[in-house]
Amino acid sequence: MAFESLSDKLQNIFKGLRGKGRLTEDDVKAALKEVKMALLEADVSFKVVKQFIKTVTERAIGQDVLNSLTPGQMVIKIVNEELTNLMGSETTKLKLLPDNEITVIMMMGLQGAGKTTTTAKIAGKLKGSGKKPLLVACDVYRPAAVEQLQINGDKQGVPVFAMGTNHKPVDIARAAIEHAKKNNNNVVILDTAGRLHVDEDMMNELIEIRDNIDITQTVLVVDAMTGQDAVNVATQFNEKIGIDGIIITKLDGDTRGGAALSIKAVTGKPILYVGMGEKLSDLEQFYPDRMASRILG
Ligand code: GDP
Repeated sequence: MAFESLSDKLQNIFKGLRGKGRLTEDDVKAALKEVKMALLEADVSFKVVKQFIKTVTERAIGQDVLNSLTPGQMVIKIVNEELTNLMGSETTKLKLLPDNEITVIMMMGLQGAGKTTTTAKIAGKLKGSGKKPLLVACDVYRPAAVEQLQINGDKQGVPVFAMGTNHKPVDIARAAIEHAKKNNNNVVILDTAGRLHVDEDMMNELIEIRDNIDITQTVLVVDAMTGQDAVNVATQFNEKIGIDGIIITKLDGDTRGGAALSIKAVTGKPILYVGMGEKLSDLEQFYPDRMASRILG
């Protein structure tokens, strides 16, 4: 389950704090030291943990907290607020143009991150909200990827535009937008090719699409289970291509939560959605405050 081990640890630490009644500065410091360990064990980026503990300590070691009637509760509240801030403080939604314009979303990510599945999940959500999405198979390396998009598009009742594997992705994208204009589709979602690792060719291909197509936003899909690797991948994509939003998949299987907790703080880019399972309905809007409360139990 998402964040399970981190959540267990934090809840234990705070149980001790809550049960104590009056707290000294040393009590708070000792508890925050344990929080620090728990976050590091959850694979949260070291820099992020350091800054987080510093901020929480500054807020928690004031007389107004220590002399309050429920100091334990107040420390927990501060941790909750700062965890929320870490993950983005407010909810960021997918940017969509008005219905009479075509929104173009470029999906990016490493192979296996869950990009194709997530693309279809988003298409389903958009369709549900009255948009007319068109999925576009821009992966010209793996015929199986094109086929998978087709299958998922069919499941969602969303059309899929494909031109096989003999065209350049940027040309497929261009043709897809023309197709969208003719067929009244107002959201074009480009499912680009993923590789096993970040490489020059992949980046150049994405840059070519970005520079020649009027992209409304770029969305990076990363796998929560890869922890800090996901954060590193996001940093590289952001530097080379520029990302507008992030989707973290497989959070359902990530008991640690390091990627979800660090990625916004490290890249400055918001998490839009989280993938919570393999089914095409398992995509949730990301609410930093709810996620923080879920972690603290
Ligand atoms: P791509 O190579 O990035 O396009 O990845 P796929 O979309 O093919 O997904 C790779 C695997 O991850 C598939 O088995 C998906 O069912 C699975 N997957 C994708 N998103 C999630 C998720 O949120 N949770 C879980 N548990 N599995 C997921």
